[in-house]
Formats: sequence, structure tokens, C-alpha cells
Amino acid sequence: MNRAPTVLVVLLLFVSTIFADEFLISDPNAAFVLVSTQSGEVLGETRREVLEKQYPPGSLIKVFTTIAFYQQYGDHFPVYQCPATLSSDPVGCWDRNGHGEVGITDALAHSCNVYFRQIAQKISPEIFQQTLQKFQLSKGFYSRNEEDIRKIMTGNTLEWTVSPMLLLRAYCSIFNGGYLYPMPGHSTGTVALDRKIQQILQQGLAESTENGTSIEARRISGRPLIGKTGTSLMWEEGKINWRSTQGWWIGLYPAQKPEIAVLTFVAGGRGATHAAPLGGKVIAWFLQSR
Ligand SMILES: [Zn+2]
Repeated sequence: MNRAPTVLVVLLLFVSTIFADEFLISDPNAAFVLVSTQSGEVLGETRREVLEKQYPPGSLIKVFTTIAFYQQYGDHFPVYQCPATLSSDPVGCWDRNGHGEVGITDALAHSCNVYFRQIAQKISPEIFQQTLQKFQLSKGFYSRNEEDIRKIMTGNTLEWTVSPMLLLRAYCSIFNGGYLYPMPGHSTGTVALDRKIQQILQQGLAESTENGTSIEARRISGRPLIGKTGTSLMWEEGKINWRSTQGWWIGLYPAQKPEIAVLTFVAGGRGATHAAPLGGKVIAWFLQSR
């Protein structure tokens, strides 16, 4: 029996796995999953098991806060000032230089805490909860006080955890016509979203990759993308590590009618500086290898 072809195939697979891992993920604390936005079919992954746990979503939640505001007020999004603040200021933005005058597009693009903290004050907690429910994200959300719910809306969340894989599916549904694709342990579903709010989110997440927190993903992939970053304190085995952070990025490509979506995670990192660049690499790798 000639075993050479089998050996060669195994060897090639081995080499290509190493290459993909080394090229994509030099950081042992990083993980990603790449899916079809329509079907949820997994097209690439490294350490997906990390993504199947529950975590505080950080600023990835801001997309759903935006949807909840729209449910209540339509497209009458306010404009706020995000001033420069001292790092000791509890109501300052994550960016202490401030973002200046901010509407919803810039607020999403720069993940502006000052903006989201203020719209969170206007959104009914019931409507926010119903919004999460529509996307099947509301597990463990019940019996919370208003103050906690408003913190969750802002992305300042240590009180509530959610599966990032479910967040990825919810993001896909916003851009695939409202379809919640099948996932183990979860039913499929459809989410009705007005074209107007879909456009607002599309614009904000595109601006994020052009001039906002996702800019590294756009630069590294060299492609028009849409995306959203998230950062939270490090969450290890259900406990907070106050000395470290973890970064997330959800990105979709192409920017118009996305076909693929990636979720990246970097323990010990941040959304903009670690997870978004990794997302750009994954998308470039996938498109080149196709
Ligand atoms: Zn800001």
C-alpha cells in the first residue's frame, strides 16, 4: 500500500494549521470564530471554546441600546458634547480627550460612553429588555434594578454576562434580513427591524472602521468593513480581575450586505488595539485563502 499521499496530506494540513495559527494568532490569549452571516456555518476558528462561555459584553451591547432607543423614539437621536475630562472624573469618556460634538454615528464609531450614558437615561428598561429578548440575548437579565440596567446599556457591565456567540448571531441578524441562524441549544428566529435603524447601525459601524475604534481592522484587511469593539475588565472563571482587561471585536464583510462575520477575543487586551487588528487579519486571511 502506498501511504505517501496520505502522509503528504496530513503534513500539508499540519503545516497550514501552524501557518494559520502563527499568522493569525501569535497571542495564546486570543480566540476567534468566523461564520457565514446567513447560515452561521463556521468558516474558521481558533480556540472557539473560549467564546462559548459567558462574559460581560462591554461596548458590544451599544448596538442593542441604539435599537432600544429607536424603538422608543424613532430616529430622533440627540447630539451631545463629550468634553475632555480628567481620569479621576467618573462621568468622563473612556477617551479622556473627549469626542467633542457627538451624534449617534460618531457615538457608535468611537464607542462614546458619555453619549450612551445619556441616552441610557432616556430608554425604558422594559424596552431595552424586550430588545434583548427579540435577539434571544435576555437570559439572566430578569429582576435587575434600573440603575444596573442603565449601566448595562452603556457597556459598563460587570453585573450581567452573555454568550459572545449569541452576540455574534444577533449582529449577523441585523445585517442579514433579521434571521437568527441555528445554534446548539437555541431556536432559530426572525427579528423585524426597520430599514432606518438598520441604516443607522450600518453607518455607525462603517464609520468605526473608517475613523473610529475599529480602524485597525480596516487598515490591516484593506477592505471595506463594518465593526464594533468592546472592552471590559477581565472575567476569569466568573470572577473579575481588576488589573486586566479583555477585548472583543465583531466585524462583518463586505460593508454593504455582509456575507461573513468574525468575532475576536483577546484576554489581557483591548477591543481597539488587540481584537480589531486580529479581526482584520482573520478577514484578510479568509479572503486570500478562498
Ligand atoms: Zn466620548
